[in-house]
Amino acid sequence: RSLARNIYRFLKRQLEQRPESVQVRLLFNEKITLRNTGKGGIWPPEALNSHQLNLAKLIETSLPFLPGSDQSLPVQKRLWLRDGQIKEKPDFVSVTRGPGMNQNLAVGLNTAKGLATAWQVPLLGVHHMQAHALTPRLATAIKGAGQDSSQPEFPFLTLLVSGGHTMLLHSKSLLEHEILASTSDTAIGDELDKCGRMLLPAEIQHNTPDTSFGKYLSAYAFKSSAEFNSWSVPQNRQDEIIRPQNSFGWSIMTPMAKNRELCFSFSGISSQIKRIVSDRHCDTSDEERTLLARAALGTAFEHLGSRTIIALEQLRDQGLHIPTLVVSGGVAANDFLRYYLRQMLDVRSFHKVNLVFPPVELCTDNAAMIAWTGVEMFEAGYRTDLGCGPLRKWSMDGQSEDGGILGA
Ligand code: ATP
Ligand code: FE
Repeated sequence: RSLARNIYRFLKRQLEQRPESVQVRLLFNEKITLRNTGKGGIWPPEALNSHQLNLAKLIETSLPFLPGSDQSLPVQKRLWLRDGQIKEKPDFVSVTRGPGMNQNLAVGLNTAKGLATAWQVPLLGVHHMQAHALTPRLATAIKGAGQDSSQPEFPFLTLLVSGGHTMLLHSKSLLEHEILASTSDTAIGDELDKCGRMLLPAEIQHNTPDTSFGKYLSAYAFKSSAEFNSWSVPQNRQDEIIRPQNSFGWSIMTPMAKNRELCFSFSGISSQIKRIVSDRHCDTSDEERTLLARAALGTAFEHLGSRTIIALEQLRDQGLHIPTLVVSGGVAANDFLRYYLRQMLDVRSFHKVNLVFPPVELCTDNAAMIAWTGVEMFEAGYRTDLGCGPLRKWSMDGQSEDGGILGA
């Protein structure tokens, strides 16, 4: 019996060291989103103020959700029972270290350092975009190992589409994310938010709960998924280049359609739309606005699909058949993007590529993805020095202009 018990303990430890095969329970994953104040976007000092006002209080709210052996005891006196072992504290604390604005990051980082010091546990400083990329692995861990055949195993291709980034990565391991393409101007989320501000009727714009105008633009452009096929899928490269004018006498060109450069550019979409809208002297009909909204989303997503296919073709020419494309970041929540990328991969001979999106609620920023990246890093043996500072610029391919590398 003692031998059986030892084998059981050994297997359990092994499982703990492989987070992808462990089922994870999310105990608390709340977020506080800045409200739409009608100023058109988020003002950084306002975000900083919100962090200072809310973060410590939110952590306090989370404490009763920690697993406690005796719920009647005050939180500070509770012991946790985990896997039959009594624990008095968490195994580690993980926190976003960069990239982003130093002051804003410092609020979280210093709070995490305080917790790690008080609990005397390791700190893990996480790269925000690495966390977006690993979110589908978290999603599988929540569902339970073996439940979902689409668990993204390294290597895979990652398309990161968020408010501040647009990147195509060859994700080879936890820390190795080779940048294949990034944006030369604005990020896709930012660009679609800008188009939303131009195109959404004032009454919609003033009544949205937050400033994710790209999201509301999509709901305005497509009243239901039945309308998705109104934006055609290019069957080949030639279709990306030629777009006939519609009955209003315009067509929006897909960025960089004429070249095969592995790079993104989105600013041309909003500038084409701005020209059309200003030609109308504020007198754009609802029907035309809807078509402009479809064109903004359609050309942006077509551009994403086009560069992804170029990358897949280039990797295939090198003999690398990438089985999985992970799409993550706030814009990955978009249901038209989910539909459109699948269609585009299918018609352009990549129907075997498995397309993986995180659940919608984990696409935009959330604490769970930072915690999960911490789990993966902790289990792989990484620790971050308590003397670390926030990293304003932090490249995904391991080198930081501010001096940090992933995992250090
Ligand atoms: P980054 O991750 O690059 O630092 P961020 O953290 O501000 O930027 P995210 O929270 O990942 O960005 O994503 C926010 C962006 O996602 C916003 O531009 C928002 O409009 C966009 N977004 C969220 N939901 C949707 C949706 N359903 N359709 C289109 N865009 C969406
Ligand atoms: Fe983000």
